[in-house]
Amino acid sequence: MEAVNRAELAGKLAEIEHRMRQAEVRGAVASYIPELAKVDPARFAVAVALPDGTVLQAGDAATPFSIQSISKVFTLAIALGRLGDQLWSRVGREPSGLAFNSILQLEQENGIPRNPFVNAGAIVVTDAILAGHQPRAVLGELLHFIRLAAGDDDIHINRAVAVSEQATAHRNIALAEFMAAMGNLRNPSALTIGTYVHQCAVEMTAIQLARAGLFLVNAPGCPRLVAPARIRRINALMMMCGHYDGSGEFAYRVGLPGKSGVGGGILAIVPGRASIAVWSPGLNTNGNSKLGTEALEHLARATGWSVFG
Ligand code: GLU
Repeated sequence: MEAVNRAELAGKLAEIEHRMRQAEVRGAVASYIPELAKVDPARFAVAVALPDGTVLQAGDAATPFSIQSISKVFTLAIALGRLGDQLWSRVGREPSGLAFNSILQLEQENGIPRNPFVNAGAIVVTDAILAGHQPRAVLGELLHFIRLAAGDDDIHINRAVAVSEQATAHRNIALAEFMAAMGNLRNPSALTIGTYVHQCAVEMTAIQLARAGLFLVNAPGCPRLVAPARIRRINALMMMCGHYDGSGEFAYRVGLPGKSGVGGGILAIVPGRASIAVWSPGLNTNGNSKLGTEALEHLARATGWSVFG
């Protein structure tokens, strides 16, 4: 991978922001969580955190947004820290090729979700870290982990977003109840889903998210919250499953491990080099940020950053 000059990189981010601001087709803001439907689709941010903690940015990089499914990366790291490989008896490591909230495979595959990033899998991960703890303690641990990774204590849960998702969480409740029927849920579904919607309602700015992703970069200077072997595996899962049924397309176009959220954020990791956060609220048909993906594609091309050489 090519080394990148910081001034050049800053110029490229400004250029990408300019291009994304002009885009007329911006995708559709998620509306199934009513609170997210209120977000202005014209927003755009990109931030790149380097291992020494420097952050280069452009656009609305200091505006908090709902990280939604990007939280699944942090809960997975916590669950693997707590349970190790035992977690894999309850959730798989294969791409699903289906929508984020699909229930189809669950019945065919005996209540074991395909991977920790589809909703069913993330619900199992949350259920696993909830065992023996109160939701408040689990959410406190999650915030502690994220704040430590980002080196920033000003990261919080937006209760209005959590309440808004809870009120419309019928599909996620159905997934949890189905897994309960198959013996793959340890807590009452209301407790697990209540915790899950709060974890998804964590708000961060692109700057904070880029910094928080440094724990997956695995370079000197980055926060050491997870062992290197585990970092590689989390990155592998992000590459294969981080964009639901759009994961292959993301790997083809961007070539970096990434995790998207329906708030329009994407966290992408350049192993050994950088952590990137982008935010544009409009989504493509797979539920991934449309312009966020385009911005990452431009940035990867401009920098030569790719895990594929
Ligand atoms: N909280 C969202 C849900 O469960 C997360 C989905 C996403 O960000 O992709 O529907």
